[in-house]
Amino acid sequence: MWVTEIFHSIQGESSYAGLPCTFVRLTGCHLRCVYCDTTYAFFGGERMSVEEVLARVGAFWEEVEGMRLVEVTGGEPLLQKDVYPLTERLCDLGYTVLIETSGSLPIWHLDPRVIRIMDLKTPGSGHAHANLWENIEHLRPRDEVKFVLMDRRDFEWACDIIHRYDLTRRAHVLLSPAHGVLDPKTLAEWILHSRLPVRLQIQLHKYIWGANARGV
Ligand code: SF4
Repeated sequence: MWVTEIFHSIQGESSYAGLPCTFVRLTGCHLRCVYCDTTYAFFGGERMSVEEVLARVGAFWEEVEGMRLVEVTGGEPLLQKDVYPLTERLCDLGYTVLIETSGSLPIWHLDPRVIRIMDLKTPGSGHAHANLWENIEHLRPRDEVKFVLMDRRDFEWACDIIHRYDLTRRAHVLLSPAHGVLDPKTLAEWILHSRLPVRLQIQLHKYIWGANARGV
């Protein structure tokens, strides 16, 4: 598979934010969201086998006890067929495995032990047409749905989708302001006013290491 980077850092997103986590960033994405902060993962990368990736991940967790968290991300990781044996093997080895996906490809082929963190693309992203709505039927309570919001129109669109699909009963729901575009304080006020049981997510890693840092 093609791998852009493997690194160990603090998880910056999802309900696992703040925990040590190893990230496996696979190369390539078929979308071009206007707020994308990983355009460097669109091309290039290093060709690696599943075993090589497992070895690199394992090196970060020697002698660590307790939960060992790994996130497979991209780009769009579901574009590469080796993501299935990779995530299955990680689960077999006892890792807690997250996958971060755009929501435009089927999530139901993944090993059921994998926790899916799935975007639903808003109109402001430029890719709302790419959402694979069938994925919603395959969400489980431990999965997470993320909306990255550019503006008030995106927020209202997200609220409508949350109500229409009863999303907060299916999975965790995360609302994330596009970094540098939508003020988190404004989004916090909208969420409180909406009375929806959703989680405001800021990208913690950008506040720790800066918005343009890579490999952290
Ligand atoms: S799906 Fe993710 S990696 Fe692909 S363009 Fe959108 S934000 Fe970037």
